[in-house]
Amino acid sequence: MVEEQKYLSIGELFDLSGKVAIVTGGASGIGFACAKRLAEAGAAVLIADLNSGAGKQKTKELTTADYKAAFVKCDVTQGPQITNMVNTAVKTFGGLDIIVNNAGRYPKKLITEMDVKAWDRVMDINFKGVFLCCLRASQQMIKQERGGSIINIASASAFHPTIGFTAYDSSKAGVWMLTRTLAVELAPHKIWVNSISPGPIQTEGCSSPEDITFNKRRLNRILMGRIGRPDEIANVVLFLASRASSFITGSDIVTDAGWTLT
Ligand code: NAD
Repeated sequence: MVEEQKYLSIGELFDLSGKVAIVTGGASGIGFACAKRLAEAGAAVLIADLNSGAGKQKTKELTTADYKAAFVKCDVTQGPQITNMVNTAVKTFGGLDIIVNNAGRYPKKLITEMDVKAWDRVMDINFKGVFLCCLRASQQMIKQERGGSIINIASASAFHPTIGFTAYDSSKAGVWMLTRTLAVELAPHKIWVNSISPGPIQTEGCSSPEDITFNKRRLNRILMGRIGRPDEIANVVLFLASRASSFITGSDIVTDAGWTLT
């Protein structure tokens, strides 16, 4: 997507007019913040989520504000639903230029309590789901011959083990290496693949009293002394989706206010 680039103005760097983006898990938290930011930059955005009610409501929020957006129900563990998601982007908006692979879950379970079913569930969504979306999206991008940008939401937990998150941390470490390998394989097609590793971010998915207590305990290890907001991850997604990142592929941007340093 990013051509060999001349010097561009700030406005040109971040202008996504004419681009089409998919955000998986876009009905909530970090995903919705990404969908909104990309739409604000001019992209047409397809929100894909398991949760139809929230997905349709959030899409309406964007269309009511005159942004280009649509919703498709998609479970990222199901190949045919991912094919339908990509086909919907093509049918509705004319192609696919950007995909943000954000859908994920972070259930807490000690390894001594873990069974294969619980392990598989986390891996199916967080790791295999990202692989399947990368696969189908890159096939579409290659067919279009205009390059593209794949942005995977990993986690600072890929580099920083936490008790109770064996499956989650492993799945996100997998996303990190998947990103690097795909960057190498897809570069000849001008498809740039990067990931973002957020630290603790306040979202709907981690708003139970137990989650809030857990995050409070981590505060003294976050150098900025606070939990992050979803839009602070969406800003990095915008950077990676835009021409401001024209010389970046195969990178992970740790966005954790210093949590992994402590
Ligand atoms: P969230 O729970 O608020 O939102 C996740 C969204 O994904 C929901 O809308 C949910 O319906 C959707 N989803 C879940 N399973 C799905 C599936 N199989 N197919 C399609 N959609 C599905 O979560 P969040 O906190 O915004 O996290 C988003 C991503 O960011 C996840 O990958 C998570 O691992 C990662 N992350 C979050 C944090 C954090 O502190 N919140 C930190 C690091 C990484």
